[in-house]
Amino acid sequence: MSTAIILAYFSLRWSGWLTGLFWLLFLPTSMAQQQCHAEEIARRNLERSPWLQDTRAAANQIIRNAPLSIVAGRTIVEIPVVIHVVFKGSLENISEGQILSQMKVLNADYRRLNADTSLTPLFFQPVAADMELQFCLAQTDPDGKPTSGITRTSTPWNNIGQLVAPDGRPRIHYSDLGGKDAWDPEHYLNIWVCQIGGGILGFGTYPGSAPLAEDGVVIDARYFGTTGLAAFYPPHHLGRTATHEIAHYFNLLHIWGPDEYSCADDDEVADTPGQRGPFLDCPAYPQFSCGNSVMFMNFLDYTNDACMSLFTEGQKVRLRAALFSTRSGLLDSNGCQSAPAGTSTTKRPKFMIAPNPAGTYTKIRLPEKPMAVIVRVTGLNGKLWLEQPVVPGVDTITLDCSQIPAGLYCITVVFSNTVANSLFIKGLK
Ligand SMILES: [Zn+2]
Repeated sequence: MSTAIILAYFSLRWSGWLTGLFWLLFLPTSMAQQQCHAEEIARRNLERSPWLQDTRAAANQIIRNAPLSIVAGRTIVEIPVVIHVVFKGSLENISEGQILSQMKVLNADYRRLNADTSLTPLFFQPVAADMELQFCLAQTDPDGKPTSGITRTSTPWNNIGQLVAPDGRPRIHYSDLGGKDAWDPEHYLNIWVCQIGGGILGFGTYPGSAPLAEDGVVIDARYFGTTGLAAFYPPHHLGRTATHEIAHYFNLLHIWGPDEYSCADDDEVADTPGQRGPFLDCPAYPQFSCGNSVMFMNFLDYTNDACMSLFTEGQKVRLRAALFSTRSGLLDSNGCQSAPAGTSTTKRPKFMIAPNPAGTYTKIRLPEKPMAVIVRVTGLNGKLWLEQPVVPGVDTITLDCSQIPAGLYCITVVFSNTVANSLFIKGLK
């Protein structure tokens, strides 16, 4: 940042104001952007796999369909986590102690039990939220066997966290490329801890923004947890990188929104004041941007670990909408229970759609004991095409699709206590 300002100053003196303006406008933020690569990874994935545009749109639609009654319910949800340590040198083969120190931070930050809540300015205290998320190291692996929730893999690659193989796949997510295969990403939050390099602290994938095998969070070993290797890397030594990246995984955006040059867009959360671009280091309160006193101490900004202290109620609603819809496989997981769990059980109701692709009609077959209340068909742009109440006790619903144009749609079945989603295609005939 300071380099950029110096460059801007000299450009102004010697190369004219236009060049100076260039440095001032673009370099500081592009340098700042290095910290978190969530947006860059989403863009890279989209270039490689254009179909992800549809999966992300579908995920967003599924999230929008999550009923507020369920999202707003007060329940503490436990998220099973697997830590994949992928190391080049022994330094990055971080200790169990360092991993546990990270779990401790997550379980404090996502319950607002962090010791530094007093650093949240009085003005923002009323919107500070207990996110009601807990994280456990998985005790049962995808095969139903006992596990520590930690895998360890030696790799020949430096900076594997940002390496892409010739076939376009990021190495970190694949065992055959020197990384480590994910555990069933629908039922576990996969966190890869490795060298990333390039000043990147980590990244998380938004719902639907990555192929399933690459879904999760990647953190540089130097910025993971608070002890061991991390202790040598202030100001990112208090475990807030994982707090931030996991929030992306649950659909939270940077507090300034997708465009760091604009006041017009924001993070789609009402109680986080709009700001232009990230705040860095540890500024004194208050700071102003876009006419607001901004919440630079939010976990979704870029300030130092020691200067972040809150999520908001609005972020909680957005996060839980993702958790109870597109990420709801985590709720079915038995990863947090100790083995032998035997076979995994699916508590979430499933339904079948046939024919799919649909013609002038399609049928939805509900689980054995249907408690469905309503069925909705929405386009990926959010347009509601069909809404049909379900007669109690009926297990097959016929949907008249004759008025729906050909394309990809989301079917949402709202049950009395949960919600299930599926995609279907309306064919041409
Ligand atoms: Zn980020």
